[in-house]
Amino acid sequence: MQLLQDKIRSDGTVKPGGVLKVDSFLNHQIDIPLYNEMGKEFARLFKDQGVTKILTIEASGIGIACIAAQYFNVPVVFAKKVQSKNLDGDIYTSQVHSFTHGKEYTIRVSKKFISEEDKVLIIDDFLANGKALIGLIDILDQANATLVGAGIAIEKGFQEGGKALRDKGINIQSLAIIKEMDEERIVFED
Ligand code: 5GP
Repeated sequence: MQLLQDKIRSDGTVKPGGVLKVDSFLNHQIDIPLYNEMGKEFARLFKDQGVTKILTIEASGIGIACIAAQYFNVPVVFAKKVQSKNLDGDIYTSQVHSFTHGKEYTIRVSKKFISEEDKVLIIDDFLANGKALIGLIDILDQANATLVGAGIAIEKGFQEGGKALRDKGINIQSLAIIKEMDEERIVFED
């Protein structure tokens, strides 16, 4: 998606350790017109697939998922990273290793909100090693829900997550795929 690539080129910065900082428009301050175009693009890519729910992970996935959900007219469920008293009853859990924090955490979704009738589109801001996606897919498997695919804003194509998951037959659509990046330049896949 050209608009997103242009924004990454103009406003993104590459940090040591292979981290792309996009906090001025994607995951701290949020550019709503850009999110809106991303939502429309996800709707175009996954239309006519009977999506009944969008699943994401807190915090950065929630905004993108909500804007996209307006075009699918379905609810958003987000996996929680923190145990809370509000999260009562039966829950699905999975373990995720965080690329940016370098540690393991638990994600949780109430069993009330995903069922075997659901056809679920996963949406997230980044795809790097694929651990967040694998955790979300694990929760859908526990619920016997159908995975329609995954819509990702930025995929770091030089990390192994996208290839490994596509090899398993998962329909992953990323709006911008970075082939390589360093402090001087960011190169996208066509
Ligand atoms: P994965 O589980 O695919 O390795 O990483 C996905 C998660 O890590 C995303 O939800 C995102 O929050 C975070 N992440 C991975 N790489 C980057 C990056 O380069 N920049 C930022 N800002 N977040 C990243």
